[in-house]
Amino acid sequence: MSHSFSRRKFIHNLGLTALALPILSAVDTCLPKNNKKKLGVALVGLGSYAEGQLAPALQQTEHCYLAGIVTGTPSKAGRWKAKYNIPDKNIYTYKTIDNISNNNDIDIVYIVLPNSLHAEYCIRASQAGKHVICEKPMAITVADCDAMIAASKNAGKKLSIGYRLHFDEYHKEMMRLGRKQVYGKLKTVNADFAFHAQSGIWRLDKELAGGGPLMDLGIYCVQSFCYTTGLEPLAVTAQEGAKTDTLKFKEVEQSLTWQFEMPGGIKCNGKTSYEDSYNNLRAEAENEWFELSPAFSYNGIRGKTSQGEIKFKNVFQQALQMDDFALAVINNRPTPVPGEMGRRDVKYLQAIYQAMRTGERVIIPKD
Ligand code: NDP
Repeated sequence: MSHSFSRRKFIHNLGLTALALPILSAVDTCLPKNNKKKLGVALVGLGSYAEGQLAPALQQTEHCYLAGIVTGTPSKAGRWKAKYNIPDKNIYTYKTIDNISNNNDIDIVYIVLPNSLHAEYCIRASQAGKHVICEKPMAITVADCDAMIAASKNAGKKLSIGYRLHFDEYHKEMMRLGRKQVYGKLKTVNADFAFHAQSGIWRLDKELAGGGPLMDLGIYCVQSFCYTTGLEPLAVTAQEGAKTDTLKFKEVEQSLTWQFEMPGGIKCNGKTSYEDSYNNLRAEAENEWFELSPAFSYNGIRGKTSQGEIKFKNVFQQALQMDDFALAVINNRPTPVPGEMGRRDVKYLQAIYQAMRTGERVIIPKD
């Protein structure tokens, strides 16, 4: 009896399996080719952001995980291998990175190198047939951004920029309040971001960084102007601040202010420095205001409007950002922070520098 029951159950299950097969194969088409649920991410450049933020975030992501590393420092390779259980076959150097094309464990390559190296490694990763996330700023010239976008398109893969704040609740609220004109028409948006940079780091080397605090911190202000207003700047004026340390800031600006003219007469005023400390975003609407302070941090953001405090839960921005990209790949949908957005911002940064150098009002090119 028990035998016939098992047999019936077996036949019944077989029937269910047969029925389920077409459904399963439909689901399978949403998964990556190697049928993994979680996509493998390889971090390129194991510096402070990769180590302090991205690797810990990849311990919490639901749709991707830390599968590999690319580093020029052998001691880091050993340390990361032990800490994150990374197999030798998933550890690369800048010389061997192209071999990643043969590695099915790795779906996404995340470029976390100094700014001027983004283009080369992003293009090599795309040519290796991988989806790419590239840190901000996308590159140091618009021409480099074009080459990166072309490489990823040619490979038929996706390209995204590490704009973590698009996944933060406070910044999503700034987008909503500004774009939906919840407090009326916007008049002015002010954003500022500065920290004290140590001497001798690549961020002060023009060739590696492409510029000073504007490339590194001012870009957050540029981003916030666009996503709070939902608009693109038409023209810009800019002023370089005085250098109090001419040796340290031999190659790049120490500080900078700029003013974007937006459609509808909205003014966006930005300020950034490597020899100061501030971190704010504030929008003035017809009669009301809304702001974040601190605004651009990984956590601890605080929000207020003229009506009172705004409070959201703290999120792990980088985990949400990477999970969103993994889902964009799995479901073959666009990422909200694509290479085209990174290119747009590099174009704005270049226009700000042009306005700073010439002292002229610069009309921002449409393309
Ligand atoms: P770090 O200097 O801490 O790390 C950069 C790493 O790049 C190095 O540790 C090294 O890793 C590798 N590298 C390869 N070539 C060079 C070179 N010539 N000089 C220096 N480093 C080299 O920088 P960060 O991690 O702070 O920044 C990396 C990128 O991430 C930048 O583009 C930055 O703008 C961005 N970033 C983004 C943040 C965000 O919130 N979205 C926050 C912080 C940074 P290895 O030894 O493994 O080869």
